[in-house]
Amino acid sequence: MSAVPPVSIAALRGVRLTSGAVVDIALDGDEVLAVVPAGSPLPDTDGETLDLTGYLVTAAGAEPHAHLDKSQSWDAIQPPFGDLVRAIESWQAFAVTLDEDETLGRARSTALRMLASGITSIRTHVDLLHGSDPLIGVRALVRLRDELEGLMDIELVALGGPTVPNAVFDAALDAGVDLVGGAPHLADDPLADLERLIALARRRDVGLDLHTDESLAGADTLAAYARAVTGWHRPRTAGHCVRLSMMPAADLALLADEIRAADIGVIALPITNLYLQGWDAAHAVPRAIAPLGRLRAAGVRVAAGADNVRDPFNPVGRCDHLETASLLVSAGHLAPEAAMDAVTTGARDVMGLPVAGPVPGARADLVAVRADSLGDAVAFASADRVVLHRGRLVSRTTVSTETAASVALPVRTRSAAPATAS
Ligand SMILES: [Zn+2]
Repeated sequence: MSAVPPVSIAALRGVRLTSGAVVDIALDGDEVLAVVPAGSPLPDTDGETLDLTGYLVTAAGAEPHAHLDKSQSWDAIQPPFGDLVRAIESWQAFAVTLDEDETLGRARSTALRMLASGITSIRTHVDLLHGSDPLIGVRALVRLRDELEGLMDIELVALGGPTVPNAVFDAALDAGVDLVGGAPHLADDPLADLERLIALARRRDVGLDLHTDESLAGADTLAAYARAVTGWHRPRTAGHCVRLSMMPAADLALLADEIRAADIGVIALPITNLYLQGWDAAHAVPRAIAPLGRLRAAGVRVAAGADNVRDPFNPVGRCDHLETASLLVSAGHLAPEAAMDAVTTGARDVMGLPVAGPVPGARADLVAVRADSLGDAVAFASADRVVLHRGRLVSRTTVSTETAASVALPVRTRSAAPATAS
């Protein structure tokens, strides 16, 4: 990757919206000022103009659940293929050797891949480690956040198991971590761990982001989580929730009402849970994806992310919100529009970030993808992208394809949509 200076952008010309309309967009500082039919006069603001003919623009991607400290450790660990328990064992054996600079290097590489894909906000968990120096990962990711300030927003969640002392959570929060996290369903006493984590977040007055019920038939903590945080004022989210995918519809409907009343955002993580769950099944392997369609219909805030990338929890992954969106369509049965929402505006919503997108008054965190339509963007996920964070150009990828075919690529199979805003 080569560097581009983060220049201020005043206007985007000739770009397509998901409605099909081709428009010009005026930016003013870190906000979208106006969206008008292509070729119309635009208000005069400071910055450069980008011609985005042939691109589709949406709100920037947001990754609501990453593990940058673990990412890209697969090749160093060479773990066996397997389920969540095996992945945890592999990671914990490696974690005793963790080095701060090496962790920073892997995390930086993953974050910059995400940025090139159009992800300008990342919420990452960071392990509170066992041993004499539990904050190695925390220090690495705080450094990363400082390095990438101005290019992307990074939030940190302290991920600690039931044997991690409260004092270590406090030290992590004092060192710059933003939220309390954990995985109560993995504890010997899940409800006791849940209560401890909620009490910690309340005492420190910070948000909560819990790994929740990441098993198909194990502990069920989501209802207790919902009851405990109803009426609270800090952002709270539940990641994974794969157990919901196994619930009868009537039970899910009752639980969804409690989740909505508690205002907990549910984050599905399709690629990692497709990998981690179902190893015990010899046939009819379950998909293990939180049922976002039914939750959304019940009024629950929903989002989706990738979770792990190239580590013992997931050997693959492209650091691309459009990969997550594609999986939500094929494995999660969401329409492409709802899938795109889950990885852009929905993800920002559960993270408590300001609204972004090609809408007047919204934050100018935008990604333009070379595509004729939203469906094309989700399906082909062209790497040809232009990424804006707070109105500044922070990444541009230009793909060059040479082919021996006698027709030019990409092949256009239909006429363009009308050039009007709608
Ligand atoms: Zn996770």
